[in-house]
Amino acid sequence: MLTQKEGGMQLINSQGITMLAGYSTIASTGWIVVTQSPLQATLEPLFGIMQKVLLRTLPVACAVFLFIWFFARSISRPLQQLADKATTLNSPTVSREIESINSWYVESHGLKQAMLIGVQLLQNQIGELKRDAETDPLTGASNRRALQLTLKQQIYIGRAFSVLALDIDFFKRVNDTYGHKVGDDVLKQLTKVMTHFSKAGDMVSRTGGEEFVILLKNERLEMALALAEQLRTAVANEPFELVGNITVSIGIAHWSPEKPQTIETLLALADQALYKAKEQGRNRCVIANDLS
Ligand code: GH3
Ligand code: MG
Ligand code: MG
Repeated sequence: MLTQKEGGMQLINSQGITMLAGYSTIASTGWIVVTQSPLQATLEPLFGIMQKVLLRTLPVACAVFLFIWFFARSISRPLQQLADKATTLNSPTVSREIESINSWYVESHGLKQAMLIGVQLLQNQIGELKRDAETDPLTGASNRRALQLTLKQQIYIGRAFSVLALDIDFFKRVNDTYGHKVGDDVLKQLTKVMTHFSKAGDMVSRTGGEEFVILLKNERLEMALALAEQLRTAVANEPFELVGNITVSIGIAHWSPEKPQTIETLLALADQALYKAKEQGRNRCVIANDLS
């Protein structure tokens, strides 16, 4: 006290009680004034105040914490959902799923729009590639790959259907007489005639140079034969530019769940019927079951 003039300290008094002491020197007299009070008595009200402060601020702190948690969750939610969708961009329903995400703030809305545009572009490209991969470039008819896929699906569904194997009669002569370009035009025009005769769901595919397979999803063989006859007559009566008239031969094979065959067997049967039609003089339809 003598050296420091004023200050404070914690001490234990002669009765063993912990005290807080403060002291200060009065300059004019040189007296030192000392005050003491028990530590317990000084801190008790402080503990009470702290308790009150804590009790009063805790609900507010919890509310603030909950608010922050809810807000952070609302912000991250659309981002998380968009990220999930980014892993399934090739799914056909992804556009609708992205559309349904609630992007309530500007940045997530921008991200959502960007993703929707990306998905649209991607799916257009997938669609184009799929079309290219399954289309014959010359005639626009389906190709053998597309035919195989559709036949597989048709067999999987298990519903009866027919296939017509069609081949142009003496097509080599057309090429030899009028040139390859005119021959190509004949193939294109013939495809149009066949497409005209097929119903929705049926499929016209070019399986070789001047060979086509038409998938008819009708149930009965008689209907397939009737349609093949109509098609054959229509082709025979169709005027082809420069060439005039051509004819086609058609082999017909039928698939039914009662007598299921593999795709290979079915197409082979249709081919055999087609060769039979050629043997019998061309420009005719032969049913595969008629083969002896
Ligand atoms: P058949 O009545 O026995 O069927 O006689 P064909 O002359 O039609 O039969 P063949 O199979 O001997 O000849 C098919 C011809 O088809 C051979 C080829 O010149 C022609 N050809 C194949 N692919 C194309 C093509 O893409 N364009 C054109 N213009 N001709 C093709
Ligand atoms: Mg041929
Ligand atoms: Mg031919």
